[in-house]
Amino acid sequence: MRAAAILVAAGRGERLGGHTPKALVPLAGRTLIARAAEALLACPAVEAVQPVLPAGVALPDDAGSLGLLEPAPGGARRQDSVRAGLEALPAHYDLVAVHDAARPLVRPEAVARVLAAAEARGAALLAVRVADTLKRVRGGRVVETPPREELWAAQTPQAFHRELLREALAKAESAGRTGTDCAALVEALGAEVAVVEGDRDNRKITHPEDLAAAERELQ
Ligand code: C5P
Repeated sequence: MRAAAILVAAGRGERLGGHTPKALVPLAGRTLIARAAEALLACPAVEAVQPVLPAGVALPDDAGSLGLLEPAPGGARRQDSVRAGLEALPAHYDLVAVHDAARPLVRPEAVARVLAAAEARGAALLAVRVADTLKRVRGGRVVETPPREELWAAQTPQAFHRELLREALAKAESAGRTGTDCAALVEALGAEVAVVEGDRDNRKITHPEDLAAAERELQ
């Protein structure tokens, strides 16, 4: 199969503060989107990267020389942005890794592992075991403590046979379903999603302290 990555970067990044779209925020001197794109392209299986940016926002200068595809304008929800990226992606790529620009520290070997699992099994995601005990909370009260040994934190990339991802996005649209990741939409079709153990440093930059922690790690 021929693999490409969709790099979603159309979130507003309000939790990070400021008015710059999150993907254009610098991390130790280089934008999150440039770092994430470079990590994807360092995986030999990835032939192309399709960025998705807020409408009217151009690629930053430091991503300009990476040879990315022409950016697609994103949508209101993450899954709308993924759909825009998938529609823009040339048709000959039939294996697709969807990656958050907010995860600039992903390792190329992890990208390779998740793509290989998805090629074999249709869908796969990177995830790490949770260290904390997680609680389901409603109205300020604990209603359930799911067994920790069954709980994993999902990361990206998440990779799929292109047709399976297209179908999951279309079904979500017609059913009015919103998912915080692509895998949830594929699971809703009843399809199997393989879990590939990822790395703890592939964290998502959401809050200002995540940026500070990532800067420390890079130094
Ligand atoms: O909001 P969240 O942290 O889940 O965003 C994960 C990734 O999805 C980020 O890289 C963000 O830029 C992207 N996103 C997007 N379009 C949206 C919302 C999020 O491309 N409407």
